Amino acid sequence: MSLSLDEIYSDEYYILDTNGELYYPEEYEFKDEYFKSLVEQEVFKKEVKRGVAPHIRIMKKLKIAEYEPYTDSGHLTYLPKGALIMDLLAQRSLQVAMDYGAMPVKSSILYDLEIPAIKEHAGLFGQRMYKVTPEKRSFVLRYAACFGQFSLLKRHHLSYKDLPLKIVEIADSYRYEQRGEVTGLARLRRFFMPDMHVLIKDLEEAKDEFFKLYKLIFDEAQKYGWTYYSLYNLDPDFLRSQWNYIISLVRFEDKPVLIHTVKPNKYYWRINIEFNYIDSQMKPLETATIQIDVGNSRRFDITYVDRDGNRNYPVIIHTAIHGSLERFLYEFLEEAHKLSLKGKKPMLPIWLSPTQIRLIPVTKEHIDRSVETAKRINSYGLRCDVDDRELTVSKRVREAEKEWVPYIIVVGDEELEKGVYKVRVRDGDTVKLDLEGIIKMVLDEVSEMPKLPLYYPIKVSDRPEIV
Ligand SMILES: [Zn+2]
Repeated sequence: MSLSLDEIYSDEYYILDTNGELYYPEEYEFKDEYFKSLVEQEVFKKEVKRGVAPHIRIMKKLKIAEYEPYTDSGHLTYLPKGALIMDLLAQRSLQVAMDYGAMPVKSSILYDLEIPAIKEHAGLFGQRMYKVTPEKRSFVLRYAACFGQFSLLKRHHLSYKDLPLKIVEIADSYRYEQRGEVTGLARLRRFFMPDMHVLIKDLEEAKDEFFKLYKLIFDEAQKYGWTYYSLYNLDPDFLRSQWNYIISLVRFEDKPVLIHTVKPNKYYWRINIEFNYIDSQMKPLETATIQIDVGNSRRFDITYVDRDGNRNYPVIIHTAIHGSLERFLYEFLEEAHKLSLKGKKPMLPIWLSPTQIRLIPVTKEHIDRSVETAKRINSYGLRCDVDDRELTVSKRVREAEKEWVPYIIVVGDEELEKGVYKVRVRDGDTVKLDLEGIIKMVLDEVSEMPKLPLYYPIKVSDRPEIV
């Protein structure tokens, strides 16, 4: 039976469907297994025993990242392929934020705990702080980009004409997570957060901007072929007073959402939505987030001057459209594993594949021309390399497949004479194309996604063990 708004209390969970009906999770009839897994973990704290997460195995197999024994746990070192992938993800994240109108900044990672606003914020929300205490001073390593961006916004004179004002930063962030919780790419003590803040005049305008970002988050997920499941954290008063607005969000999403009610005034935000990706083991992972913050502009003394010359405190939206870059990567690795569960070859999207095209010269005589060809392909912003090792052709093809190279081309006399190549497509058939055709095919796949060069030597024989 559905509930009325008068039956909603703090510190409870509810399910809200697209018809505007509210239910207790215990009484809800689930139609979607993914949503059910979110509710089971979040509400009923159901822990499913699982082996090593597939994304961790893939991370090691593809030589993306390693644990770093010379620092604290939960800090990763990215090998060349991982460094390339992380830079591509960072660029994508910035690209989306900048298309939305945000300006990138780079703030400090270290904040003085003697500053009252920092101290208060850290006291309330920094349960897992990394502290740095040189001599008699006390600093905190940022756990998000809020401090640096707030301080910047406070120092400048803002007018109503500047709003909405949007800034973004790929912020390396530090949280002293409990040792037992540090795992793979899901929970780290150092991670990269593409953190965006939007300053807005008042709550009414913030709701419009929030909706735009909400849509943007779903659009992005859809581009990569995955679906997010939402958890709305809010207080009962906000739910009651913004009922029609909340329903419009749920209707846009077009599926039920999980609601967690919190005590009024406990947090700086009025609504905080966490978007969950469901991995190949049916485990929900919180990725993107968006919040409407009505407390921090006062705490950090951020103001703007309105039309009448009065100073006002703006509303601030905090958002990470992709969640942390590590979790963004987690999603791609888990998606690859989902392909193998369906009997397909696992792969990354073309734009994210470290080597996009691998040329395999039949004999030594074909190496120079292959390298020339690879360089020509790379001049278009693509990543093509040459396996020039003294191994049989079939062995080198197998090696390329083990590395998930999406396009493999064997180069011999015939190919070089005719200028037509047989391209083995990882998720399709072999196609015959000339060089222009190959370049066009791969560029079309990359589409608007970022392009970066190879982060390692073009010849496989020149590569050290770490690639
Ligand atoms: Zn923030």
